[in-house]
Amino acid sequence: MSFRDNLRKVTPYVPGEQPRGSVIKLNTNECPYPPSPKVAEALRNMDPERLRLYPEVGIETLTEALSAYYGVKKEQIFAGVGSDDVLSMCFLAFFEGKKPVLFPDVTYSFYDVWAEVYRIPYRTVPLDPDFRIRPEDYLAENGGIVIANPNAPTGRAEELSVLQEIIEKNQDSVVIIDEAYVDFGGETALPLIDRYPNLAVVRTMSKSRAMAGMRIGYAFASRELMEVLQAVKYSVNSYTMNTPSILAGAAAIKDESYFREITEKIIKTRERSRDVLCGLGFSCGRSSTNFLFAKPPEGIGAARVFEALKERRIYVRHFKKPERIADYLRITVGTEEEMDALFAALREILPALREEA
Ligand SMILES: *Cc1c(COP(=O)(O)O)cnc(C)c1O
Repeated sequence: MSFRDNLRKVTPYVPGEQPRGSVIKLNTNECPYPPSPKVAEALRNMDPERLRLYPEVGIETLTEALSAYYGVKKEQIFAGVGSDDVLSMCFLAFFEGKKPVLFPDVTYSFYDVWAEVYRIPYRTVPLDPDFRIRPEDYLAENGGIVIANPNAPTGRAEELSVLQEIIEKNQDSVVIIDEAYVDFGGETALPLIDRYPNLAVVRTMSKSRAMAGMRIGYAFASRELMEVLQAVKYSVNSYTMNTPSILAGAAAIKDESYFREITEKIIKTRERSRDVLCGLGFSCGRSSTNFLFAKPPEGIGAARVFEALKERRIYVRHFKKPERIADYLRITVGTEEEMDALFAALREILPALREEA
């Protein structure tokens, strides 16, 4: 017997690289534009004296702003340190069963990590060949369901009717819908929370609100689920969100016009970029997110393109697993200029790699 037998063995989530210095960073789906000027103002106006005290334990300033913006009662809103924190608390709070939690084989690669670390049994459900969900695959007995919609890294959005069918037919387990990218084109399941007490909808300010560095996420659900989620949170760490994040998050939510302006810009760049990539011979499906999921031209490996771009200090994301997506690159939509730099690099790289092949 050794202390080593008592150590928790986990394979952690692997985040995209955060290189230092000057690079074109299209690898972690951050927003290429700064957060609302109201965020800077809120931070400037914050009296540092407030940092002497613990932050709001109920995160009221933020949940009240979210409540007013979304028209959801504040008792039905939970906030945390990025949606990773919120999702992790949801896994801990909602998935106590013995039956496996279900999620797609190609999706956010953190779900299986939380399942492992919390000892929650799970089973992945293959998406169809077009990376779409087949709702009938979610009829098997389960201890919960997690679906990212729009999905990552595929960028595909499912219609609300597909999700509703899954929620409707699984009223004995909690269904979590991760809407990290919904502001770029998905249909939200938010209106369903009053109809289905087993539904939780999770959001983040990291992508569409341009605040990945602030770590702000939130969830909407029935009061019943909220009570359990709050109880679990207060059993782990009562003061999750810090005061500057609470104030910055509230300020960001209140600036609707800036939010619309940057999301529309990103959507426009996304559509143009998809056309350019197709023109370069990539196969690239429609995206409802702030990234594109693209397969390089026949005979050119995604890993080689990834490396060649990196040599030019352009970072995109390549997943080796699961194997069915190893031929793809996930490219975050940057500014117009960043995308043009990417296309210029690809125009040089592709012919060289073609010769090699
Ligand atoms: C980025 C992302 C998250 C995590 O976002 P944070 O709020 O920054 O923790 C959660 N789910 C999906 C699908 C994401 O892409």
